[in-house]
Amino acid sequence: SIVVTGATGALGRLVIDELLASGVPASGIAAVVRNKEKAAGLAERGVELRVADYSAPETLAGAFRAGDRVLLISGSEVGQRVAQHAAVVAAAKDAGVAQLAYTGILGGPEADFRLADEHKATEQLILDSGLPYTFLRNGWYTENYTAHLEPVLAHGAVVSNAGEGRVASAARADYAAAAAAVLTGEGHLGRTYELSGDVAWSFAEYAAEVARATGKEIAYQAVAPEVHLGILTGAGIPAPFAEILVDVDLAIGRGRLAGTSGELSRLIGRPTTPISETIAAAVA
Ligand code: NDP
Repeated sequence: SIVVTGATGALGRLVIDELLASGVPASGIAAVVRNKEKAAGLAERGVELRVADYSAPETLAGAFRAGDRVLLISGSEVGQRVAQHAAVVAAAKDAGVAQLAYTGILGGPEADFRLADEHKATEQLILDSGLPYTFLRNGWYTENYTAHLEPVLAHGAVVSNAGEGRVASAARADYAAAAAAVLTGEGHLGRTYELSGDVAWSFAEYAAEVARATGKEIAYQAVAPEVHLGILTGAGIPAPFAEILVDVDLAIGRGRLAGTSGELSRLIGRPTTPISETIAAAVA
């Protein structure tokens, strides 16, 4: 089977949509989920459910079978992910899967910001396992920004401590299409893909695009890291995560998420989704 973990998450759902749309029969797809109720829609479409939690290694024993082509979608519990992913890799190894694709981070070992640490460690675990791998080093989702338009519209400002840094983001659906491509196509074993949008935009450009889409006045407000941290924690984001976000913006300022290699559009056979489209969808 083609097996997708994190299948009830935003990316996982899109990967399964993409697999089905590309002609993979539902009976050939298995979804690894920790919450069966949340996966009811997948089961209705005929996708096999395999219930497992990354944090409970014993539950992962039934998640994979020999010959499966597996997409490990990185977990969302920052700080716990190395142990969690290690358990998934061990289960995949025990089962003898034919492919383990992993959603890492743009730059891989070169990514010098905190959010990258768990991804780097996971790639190393996969290399050490000897499993046939495919590394999907994902750049930023445009939705990371468009999902948080409310404060932008309320204050008329896009706030960041990335300075003039640029982000080559793409829509989640673009990364999902890339994952589906490596799970269904040939020639992807032992390959590493640096995936990002075709266009790298600045926060001033992003603000201008939001202004255009909404007809409101929106300015880019470049702030110092400490100021941004205060704004984020003031908005209720827990300090440890706010610090990670500020650290990401500093990395953006250093150009770490600006790479436009074109590998994503080549893999999916079409241009990546422009931010104008994702912004328009979020505004609608
Ligand atoms: P989501 O948070 O929507 O999905 C995360 C998925 O991981 C969910 O299905 C969740 O299960 C599952 N998961 C988390 N912890 C466990 C666990 N202990 N056991 C089993 N499953 C678990 O994120 P997205 O789909 O948007 O993104 C996918 C991943 O990409 C994220 O988890 C994160 O690692 C990374 N990411 C990348 C970003 C980027 O811009 N490149 C931005 C944000 C995240 P459940 O549905 O039950 O919660």
